[in-house]
Amino acid sequence: MEHVDYNCIFCAIVAKRAPANIVYESDDALAFMDIHPIVPGHVLVIPKKHSRNLFDFDESCAPGLMRAERIVARALRTAMNADGLTVLQSNERVGGQTVFHYHAHLVPRFVGDGLLTRPEQLHAAQARAGEGLGPAEIADKIRAQIQNT
Ligand code: 5GP
Ligand code: ZN
Repeated sequence: MEHVDYNCIFCAIVAKRAPANIVYESDDALAFMDIHPIVPGHVLVIPKKHSRNLFDFDESCAPGLMRAERIVARALRTAMNADGLTVLQSNERVGGQTVFHYHAHLVPRFVGDGLLTRPEQLHAAQARAGEGLGPAEIADKIRAQIQNT
């Protein structure tokens, strides 16, 4: 198959050379249950074509991936009777990435579940992020960078 990384566990799942509990498959995307779920119903959605993460993501995969995410999100909401859903996507080790084939985590959410909403976590992250710069200055830096590329 084209665009396969033979050391990549998710490419192996796409090729059906490794087992996975697949919930949705299209020509260009695959969704399967996370082997160590954060909560019941934790699903991973991936492009079949190997990209390491967002930094080298092949944009031609985006529509198919988003379509798969939407289909699985709606199904998950009903299947789990969830109140909402959080999508997580990590890039590089420092960003929390442990499997280096692009994937979105779909995490069903329930009123009062406390996930990702603990104020001390958010405040600690805010204190470290963009130290010394205001939101307008940070926006300027991002815009300048986009114009340069
Ligand atoms: P990351 O930490 O890179 O954002 O997420 C990787 C996710 O992949 C983790 O939640 C982990 O549990 C899951 N995972 C790792 N190896 C496998 C596997 O072989 N099969 C499945 N189904 N999930 C895996
Ligand atoms: Zn891969």
